[in-house]
Amino acid sequence: MADPLNNKIFQNPEKARAWLEALLWADGRVCGYCGAVDESTAIAGREGYYQCNACRKQFTVQVGTLFERSHIPLNKWLMAAFLLCASKKGMSAHQMHRMLGITYKSAWFMCHRLREAMAPLKGTFGPLGGEGKTVEADTTYIGGKEKNKHRNKRNAKNIGGQGKQIVHTLVERGGRATSDHIANVSGKTLRPVVMKQVSRKSALMTDEAGEYFHLGKEFARHETVNHGAGEYVRGDAHSNTVEGYFSILKRGIVGTYHHVSEAHLKRYLAEFDFRYNERSALGVDDGERATKALQGIVGKRLTYRRTDEAANA
Ligand SMILES: [Zn+2]
Repeated sequence: MADPLNNKIFQNPEKARAWLEALLWADGRVCGYCGAVDESTAIAGREGYYQCNACRKQFTVQVGTLFERSHIPLNKWLMAAFLLCASKKGMSAHQMHRMLGITYKSAWFMCHRLREAMAPLKGTFGPLGGEGKTVEADTTYIGGKEKNKHRNKRNAKNIGGQGKQIVHTLVERGGRATSDHIANVSGKTLRPVVMKQVSRKSALMTDEAGEYFHLGKEFARHETVNHGAGEYVRGDAHSNTVEGYFSILKRGIVGTYHHVSEAHLKRYLAEFDFRYNERSALGVDDGERATKALQGIVGKRLTYRRTDEAANA
């Protein structure tokens, strides 16, 4: 996939379909209903439709993917994927709506489905870190500033960290990041998040929060950095990598998306994790990143109601 301004797959739905078929069916044409591979016949006169010889159903490349039942032309889907993957801070549904000439509601649903495509399938990746590797862990707060709200709508309890949503991120230096939306900062909450996702052979870098104290002992090494004292770097004990991740996340959430509801935060985190993990510093260009996102439309179940989708997309 290359430059959207010059590539026919972004202009022409038939070209887009052929491109997506080549991508998703590289190892044979799969029936999205029963999973049979290379047991289908192209239907004469209906470009893109195939008859499955195993289950007898008719399918297209969109069946069984996140694009199933969508009426948005496939070239617009590919364009949306390219734009979302190429924009470091994300792209709002408003901007997508203007650029693609589709309704705002359609753009909103497309963006969410593409975020879902970016979320890794369970078991795709092993734990972060390992022997000789370093993983940084930290939390940040996301949410509107109470002091900017109208006086009557301010909630005194929300000043400071309270009332905001908490994001916990783990980053392997030179490697992947994985973010979780957590309910609170406590040992009980952090323990499974860290233990399930980080190899114990790693060196773990955290701030001095007591929540990390006990779990830190289970790692090959645990170093703490005292943010409050202005001590950010002591040898290799620092959390600059995860801080860098948070700065992109915050600029994206505040600058591009303005407001992210609690219900959807997880999806935005998947989007920012994905772009970070497929970043250009690791040799991934915009087209390759979009191609990888589109490979993720298979094997995912839609987690929002189909009736909403049918009505809006
Ligand atoms: Zn079938």
